[in-house]
Amino acid sequence: MNPRVRARCRACEIPVPGDLAEGAVQCMRCTEPVRAVLPVPPLDESLERCVVCEARTFYIEKAINRALGLLLVVGAAVISAVIFYFNGIAALAFLIVFALVDFGAYHALPLRTVCYECLTEYQGWPLSERHRPFDHDIFEGIRQRRIRESEQVEASSDEAPLVTRGTSS
Ligand SMILES: [Zn+2]
Ligand SMILES: [Zn+2]
Repeated sequence: MNPRVRARCRACEIPVPGDLAEGAVQCMRCTEPVRAVLPVPPLDESLERCVVCEARTFYIEKAINRALGLLLVVGAAVISAVIFYFNGIAALAFLIVFALVDFGAYHALPLRTVCYECLTEYQGWPLSERHRPFDHDIFEGIRQRRIRESEQVEASSDEAPLVTRGTSS
């Protein structure tokens, strides 16, 4: 797969089509542009900072298209059910072959680096030893901090801020 930077719209939380390394991209839903604020690093350097949000926390994951993966599994289940109607053994054989191919394909998939903060995906850059697989605790910590930050922004932008705003933590 070609190296590319795939950003996500912050407001809509959907991936934005196009390669950010080639310039600003636009969200399909809200048409908000997403652009890199830092230069995209050369392909022989691992990522230090996210070019979209400048964060330094990344995780590594398999470059899998989840929707496509799910579609394949559902498709295989339907096909095996049809085969099963005619021949049980053949249906079983089909499922075993599918599982083996699926397993092989998964292991052959390349890895990509993803920003925890804005979920921008970097495919094709060398992996850094500092980056680990997805950690839910780190993700949750960032999410909670962002909620607190947006509450603060909201509170400070109110003309008459409420005295007690429910931020029990
Ligand atoms: Zn959007
Ligand atoms: Zn980021």
